[in-house]
Amino acid sequence: MKHGYLIDMDGVIYRGSEAIPGAAEFIRYLQEEDIPYLFLTNNSTYTPLDVVVKLRKFNIETSVEHVYTSALATAEFVQKQKPHGTAYVIGEGGLLSALNDADYAISRESPDYVIVGEGRVLNFEMVEIAHRLIEKGAGLLSTNADTWCPTDSGPRPGCGAIVALLESATGRKAYHVGKPNPFMMRAARKNIGLSTDEVIMVGDTMETDIRGATDLGFQSILVLTGSTTLESLEQYPFRPTRVVESVAELAPALAGL
Ligand SMILES: [Mg+2]
Repeated sequence: MKHGYLIDMDGVIYRGSEAIPGAAEFIRYLQEEDIPYLFLTNNSTYTPLDVVVKLRKFNIETSVEHVYTSALATAEFVQKQKPHGTAYVIGEGGLLSALNDADYAISRESPDYVIVGEGRVLNFEMVEIAHRLIEKGAGLLSTNADTWCPTDSGPRPGCGAIVALLESATGRKAYHVGKPNPFMMRAARKNIGLSTDEVIMVGDTMETDIRGATDLGFQSILVLTGSTTLESLEQYPFRPTRVVESVAELAPALAGL
């Protein structure tokens, strides 16, 4: 049967600055067999080109059409909801450039939205500006709800945690565009050009990757090289279609298939 893969990156392809063994072989296998694939990440820090260059370090040669980030999904979302609008952004280059490409101007003069993304640019002045703009009517959006991110030196607060601060201060609820939101999952499916039955999501996080796939009716493969252990699966009322130790099991040459 025709099929293709949506592939999460952190915890699947690499962990921090280290490649996960078998990842490069898996991607090469997809390329050789002409199997459609799309890297799907909730990290809105980087542009698709940044991601392509980063993957090169892990011996993966790909191109920008194979990368879909929560920054691109967020830009697509606001473009559909309110074309040619304005946004105040707490985020990095990946988000800013996606918004600009979607005809969105960055402004702190009564913007349509306050948009929070992943990154390390936060300071109190920005939170204060965002708080006041939301009070004045700007919609609160975030690229993703992840409350923490893994790094080489340990966890750090994620986009979802910063948004929680603004939600608490303003009493408003944010709309999170990234996985598991069906908006991003559906946009990814359209991007890869497959029907629901043909899509297989590969990820390491139950709450985002596997939940998003389950909501849309995609098949899903959980890898145990990231944030989820086999024992913790019992805590969830939904299950992946399949569980593997790592992506190496999906590369026929390595799995001895
Ligand atoms: Mg991950």
